[in-house]
Amino acid sequence: MDIKNFSIVGSIRKGWQLSMVIPKEKVAQIRQSVDIVDLISESVLLRKTGKSFIGLCPFHAEKTPSFTVSPDKQIYYCFGCGEGGDAITFVMKHEGVSFTDAVRMLARKCGIDIEPKAGGNRPGTDLREAVLEVNRLAAEYYAAVLRREESASAVRQYIENRGISWKTVEAFQLGYAPDRWDAFVNQLRRRNIDAGIAEKAGLIVRRDQKPGYYDRFRNRLMFPIRDTQRQVIALGGRVLDDSKPKYLNSPESLVYQKSRHLYGIDKARNACRKTGEVYVTEGYLDLIAMHMHGFENAVATLGTAMTVEHIRLLKGMAQRIVLMFDSDEAGLKAALRCIELFKSEKRLDDIRILVLPEGHDPDSFLRKFGADAMMEHMKASLGVFSFLIESAVRQHGLGSSGKIRVIESLIEPIAAIEAFDSLSRFAAIRELAERTGISEAAIQERIRQTNAQRGPKQPVLSTNVPSEINRLERSLVMMLLHFPKTIPMFQNSPWWGNLEDPMLNHLVLRVCECHGKDTAQKPIAEVVAALIEEADTPEEKRLITELSMSTDTWNDAACRRLLAQYSLRRRHGVHAVWKQKIRFAEQTQDTEALQKLMEEAQSAFRATGGMDP
Ligand SMILES: [Zn+2]
Repeated sequence: MDIKNFSIVGSIRKGWQLSMVIPKEKVAQIRQSVDIVDLISESVLLRKTGKSFIGLCPFHAEKTPSFTVSPDKQIYYCFGCGEGGDAITFVMKHEGVSFTDAVRMLARKCGIDIEPKAGGNRPGTDLREAVLEVNRLAAEYYAAVLRREESASAVRQYIENRGISWKTVEAFQLGYAPDRWDAFVNQLRRRNIDAGIAEKAGLIVRRDQKPGYYDRFRNRLMFPIRDTQRQVIALGGRVLDDSKPKYLNSPESLVYQKSRHLYGIDKARNACRKTGEVYVTEGYLDLIAMHMHGFENAVATLGTAMTVEHIRLLKGMAQRIVLMFDSDEAGLKAALRCIELFKSEKRLDDIRILVLPEGHDPDSFLRKFGADAMMEHMKASLGVFSFLIESAVRQHGLGSSGKIRVIESLIEPIAAIEAFDSLSRFAAIRELAERTGISEAAIQERIRQTNAQRGPKQPVLSTNVPSEINRLERSLVMMLLHFPKTIPMFQNSPWWGNLEDPMLNHLVLRVCECHGKDTAQKPIAEVVAALIEEADTPEEKRLITELSMSTDTWNDAACRRLLAQYSLRRRHGVHAVWKQKIRFAEQTQDTEALQKLMEEAQSAFRATGGMDP
């Protein structure tokens, strides 16, 4: 078969199903099997408070936890940014995948088979799954080449020379891409795999002039890059000689973005949780050396500086992040970048910087000095601001003019810190004062001058405060949801199907429908799941989640009080509206309209059980 006959379709092999519809009962089964606390704990550090768990929100920047997970209701909600939903919503949002992909990921996690038996013996799939599958096959292929092929003997020697054990090679599934243009292309053909998918995964490249493809990775030591689910999302290749580029990674794809993925995260996660710390290195071999020497709580960036996404990913696993560098210069650059980054993340205090001595990277340091020396050196890591001070002191000294320069060079970073965290700023000023012997007041004054030159701050916009009626309507929905006993009472009130907020009004009807006619109370999780399942819009879903999170306890008296309060407000509101209309008619002396309005107003008031205006 000729390579040009391979076509791009959304599946890895011809004849595979393009996409699939997951039966509703399977989705329900998955919802029941997944525990939302376990699921979210994989990426967010949660702590128990009362009936719920709280943690730092993975969807917005915050310093105090407002992200809440309810095991009773199997939902999460962030009181900071309003993000909320069930297990499926969480995976969709957190992994940035579609509903189907989220369900599939959860199904895999809890061992539920959702793939329909397609014509062949392989499961149906869509493009995303297909790309992951071809990546997995590529990793296996390169690993097999490294293990078996004669052409790989020099690479095996190279690995041995670098002190990498065979156990590590297997654990990281290291491989070798042969020094040929068509090794993987031929492998695809042998396995009857769609070349278009491999192209989408970035493993092969379409030829310019003639039809067909060639291998992206040639004569390189190969590193499969995995996500937290251990799926191969990309591959990285390192040259074995001095050719360029030294490192080559899969291009960004449907499943891989270098700004949000980290090498080694699949292996580091548990160790990070255990130690509360994570070390971030800059290369594959550094990371592997760290793991080999027992520092399993280490990851590596993939040819990019740390990003906000990286920080969010890591903060779900460890309280403290230590960035490792091979030079002061690199450390300095990173420290300044962190301050920029943390304006939005507000977590500067949890970041430390560690520069290894004599231009060593973690790999060379560990090979030369060993794990104990590394352990000892790790104590020398500094907070971002301390690191900046020490760098400045090294550069300028602490002579009388040196001190001034040290302070000058730190004014900008301090001013930047001030924008997001006044506590950190005070700590920074104190530290700078202690180190230089210049008074805090003098430093403060200098900062004030700098700030004055920068111009006024942006005013803070006030958030929308919901009206009293809206607040009461929300309470009513919560009441009906959590205390369904009151449904008949509410159904007999004039407000049944008659709330001011259309979405809340709709929700009331849905809540009553879900609770059904049974007098026995359904488990709240079941009702919430049904409501979320059938919500029409993401806003509605969010609203349901938010209202479901209420931990208020209800009783008959409280419910009657709420309803009375609401009735009063509504009548007052209706009263005011009619009064305004009538006054307008009086002013325009339109007697006919006035007469009509009076009649309408009277019937409206009778309908709401109130008195005539
Ligand atoms: Zn949030």
